[in-house]
Amino acid sequence: MAHPQIQLEATGKAMHELATELYPICRSITGDGVRETLARLGRLIPLEVREVPTGEQAFDWTIPQEWNIRDAYIKDAAGRRVVDFRESNLLVVHGSRPIRETIRWEELKPHLHTLPDHPGWIPYRTCHHTNDWGFCLSHDQFEQLEHLAKAADREYEVCIDATLCDGSLTYGELLVPGETSDEVLISTHICHPSLANDNLSGISVATHLARYVREQPRRYTYRFLFLPATIGAIAWLSANESDVDRVKHGWVLSVVGDAGPSTYKKSRRGDAEVDRAFEHILRSSGQPYSLVEFDPLGYDQRQFCSPGFNLPMGCLMRTPNGRYPEYHTSADNLDLIQPEFLADSWAKCTAVVRVLEGNRRYANLNPKCEPRLGPRGLYHAFGARPDREHLQAATMWVLNFSDGGHTLLDIAERSDIDFDTIREAADLLIEHELLEKVIDHRTTAAGAACNPERADGRAILDNPLQT
Ligand code: ZN
Repeated sequence: MAHPQIQLEATGKAMHELATELYPICRSITGDGVRETLARLGRLIPLEVREVPTGEQAFDWTIPQEWNIRDAYIKDAAGRRVVDFRESNLLVVHGSRPIRETIRWEELKPHLHTLPDHPGWIPYRTCHHTNDWGFCLSHDQFEQLEHLAKAADREYEVCIDATLCDGSLTYGELLVPGETSDEVLISTHICHPSLANDNLSGISVATHLARYVREQPRRYTYRFLFLPATIGAIAWLSANESDVDRVKHGWVLSVVGDAGPSTYKKSRRGDAEVDRAFEHILRSSGQPYSLVEFDPLGYDQRQFCSPGFNLPMGCLMRTPNGRYPEYHTSADNLDLIQPEFLADSWAKCTAVVRVLEGNRRYANLNPKCEPRLGPRGLYHAFGARPDREHLQAATMWVLNFSDGGHTLLDIAERSDIDFDTIREAADLLIEHELLEKVIDHRTTAAGAACNPERADGRAILDNPLQT
C-alpha cells in the first residue's frame, strides 16, 4: 500500500478531478442532470440508482414533477444571445416554467436576479413549484443591459426551453455489507448545478470514502446515499422507515472542500458515539476546528434528526453553508475547493470510520497489578520507533481501563492519546495475551440482543456503559 501521505495527496487530486468532471452538469432536484451525475459516480462505486415516481407520497410531501432543461437565453433585437444558458447553468433560475416570448426591458427586469454586493458573480436561484421563471446574471452585466435598454426602448426574446412533467425523483444508494447489519449511514446532496463546495465537495468525499470503506475489513455495514436535498432524504426515510433502527452512526457531508477549518455539527442526541468520535478526531488532529451543537437548520440532518427518527447523525462541513460569501454563487467554483482540503475532510472521515470500527471493550487478563512488559516481549514490540514512549503510555492506559466497561474511545478521550495509537496498543496487548475482546452482542447480524460477555463466556455483570 502507498505511503499514507502519498495516498492522501492522490485521493485529494482524484476528488478534485471528480468535482471537475461533474461541475458542468446541470443538476437540479429532479431530472437528467442527477442521472448523469449518478452514472458517472457509478464508474467509481457500484451505485444503485433508484427512481421514485412523481405523485408518490412521502410523509407530508409529494414527489414533484420532473424538471429538465435543454436551453435558455435572452436575445437582443439583433438576435445576439446576451444571456446564454450554454455558458453557465446558473444563468437560469432552476425550476423555471417554460417560456418563449418577446418582452420589453421593463417587463423582463423583475425576472432578473443579481448580486449588487458582488457585481461580478452570478447568483444561484431556484423557483421550484412556484410557476415562475427567471434568469440570473452578474450585476455588471445587468447594468450594461439596463444602460443599453434605456438608450433605446428595447425588446428582448426570452426563451426557457424546459419541461416540467410527470417523471421521477432520482437518487443513488450504495450498500457495503459488513460483519453485522448495524449500519453507518453517510449522506450527501446531489441537486446543485455548477457549484463546487456546495455540493460537489460532498459528492467527491462521499464517493472516495465509499471506495476506502470497501477496501477495509468491516464490522459495520455502510450505506451511502446521494440524494436531492430535503425531498430526497424525506423519500428515502419514507421508503426505509421500518429499517432505520439499523443505523447506529452516521453523518451528512457537505461543504467539505474550502480552506476553512473543519466544522462538525453534532447529532440531535448530542452524545452519540459518532459525535464523540468526531470530537476526538478533530481534537487530536492538532488543527483548528469548530464543534457545534445540533440545530434544525442545515442540510439533510434536519430530516434524519427529525424527532420521529432522531438518528445518531452529525454533519461534517468546513465553513458552514451561508457563512462564506461565495455560497450559492458562481464564485463557489473549482478554485474555492482544493485537493488538500478535500483530502483533509476525507482523512477525518476515514479516521472516524476507524474509531467506530475499533471502538470495543476489552478485558485485562492480568488485572491484579501491572504485568511485566519486558518478559512478555512488549518492550521489544515497541521497537525503536520515535513514538515508542507514546505507545507505551497508551498500553498502560489500555491495560488499566480495560475492565470490560470502558471502550477504547473512552480510554482515548480520558488519556488524550489519539485513537489509532490506543487501538495499536490494544492490538499489541491482544497479541501478547494480556487483553481479550469483550463480545458485545447488543446487535449482531442475527439481530440477537443479550448482555455483553467475555469471550470465555463469563458475563460481565457490572457494565455501566451498556446501552
Ligand atoms: Zn445549497
